[in-house]
Amino acid sequence: MTSNKNLVPRRDFIKTSALGLSALSIGLPLNSALATSCGSSGKDKLGIALVGLGNYSKGQLAPSLLETEHCYLSAIVTGTKEKEKEWAEKYNIPKGNIYNYENFDDIASNKDIDIVYIVLPNSMHAEFTIRAAKAGKHVICEKPMAVSAAECKAMIKACNDNNVKLSIGYRLQFDPYHKRIINLSKENTLGSINYVNADFAFTIGDPTQWRLKKDLAGGGALMDVGVYCIQACRYSFGQEPIALRAQAFNSGNEKFKEVNETITWQMEFPDGKISNSTTSYAMSVNSLFVSAQKGKAQLMPSYGYGGIEGFIKDEILEFPKFNQQAAQMDTFALNVKNNTESIVPGEEGLKDMKVIEAIFKSLEQNGARILI
Ligand code: NDP
Repeated sequence: MTSNKNLVPRRDFIKTSALGLSALSIGLPLNSALATSCGSSGKDKLGIALVGLGNYSKGQLAPSLLETEHCYLSAIVTGTKEKEKEWAEKYNIPKGNIYNYENFDDIASNKDIDIVYIVLPNSMHAEFTIRAAKAGKHVICEKPMAVSAAECKAMIKACNDNNVKLSIGYRLQFDPYHKRIINLSKENTLGSINYVNADFAFTIGDPTQWRLKKDLAGGGALMDVGVYCIQACRYSFGQEPIALRAQAFNSGNEKFKEVNETITWQMEFPDGKISNSTTSYAMSVNSLFVSAQKGKAQLMPSYGYGGIEGFIKDEILEFPKFNQQAAQMDTFALNVKNNTESIVPGEEGLKDMKVIEAIFKSLEQNGARILI
């Protein structure tokens, strides 16, 4: 996946740098200063606990939490002892705000934690979302929401039962390029949308990683990056698919003995509209194409953290550098503060998981048409 080394608009960087400087100059840990810097109520910035300190937490979420206005990194949950010291020093996390997977439930009594952000392997999402909800914390859970629709339903129920909010890490719904695509159907800019092609694939490396293990990943590229294609087709049409057919391809590479290597699928939307998608761990594709009555739109590359390019009819799209993760987390913090609903709630993750299950069902039945 594309990484964007320069995610922060310069204006925001200056603002954050100035905050950091004043925090250091009065001898406060940076995060404490950030937590109280916005006003006197004491909770202007909500505390986020990152659960699972892997690549996405380290490379994207934690750095973005230095740029957010309404939330900050207040706590960490890790199963790797060596990470505790490194993260505590880098982000000024107090000792009392460091947890592991065993004592995780103790977060219930920690007032520095308002939101728990689950960034674990896919099959651990449900367990930790439910435990976080029972601890009375609001939850952001990474995509894919879980590894089955039943798990998604249990997660939604746990959050409802405990009166906490649940949001899924669908960062692209906050991105300005994707927002323009989402608006096509809402504003009817190009007339009726007839066809969407959404492909996302990359060549996977290390054969021992959890993404290639069925019990941790729940599936291959479909769970990991194919879910972006399902999202993109759904929000490009602004409608839900009613049926699909799927096909799987496997080169016989040992890496893919537990999960699918390449899957293609076609979805039917109301009024004869169709989409076509490919996802794979054995090739590189990253695009979204929309064909409508009065013109076409395309994003390519489409799904990265930055570097998105594209057009809508005659207009070349061009937006300043944008921090998707900061926007996603800030928006959820405001949802919590203002008691409003996330634009990417658990129900959104459940809809995608139902499509994923229909794709696997179609594969089991040799590409049969499956109603969703
Ligand atoms: P990594 O493998 O880099 O990190 C996962 C972390 O989970 C590990 O570092 C470890 O953290 C913890 N962990 C706990 N148990 C296990 C286990 N049995 N095996 C492996 N790791 C374990 O994964 P990513 O950060 O890339 O992905 C994590 C989640 O985030 C996935 O669900 C993925 O789909 C999602 N993601 C979303 C992205 C987006 O753009 N929205 C981008 C990338 C990932 P520790 O050592 O702290 O315990």
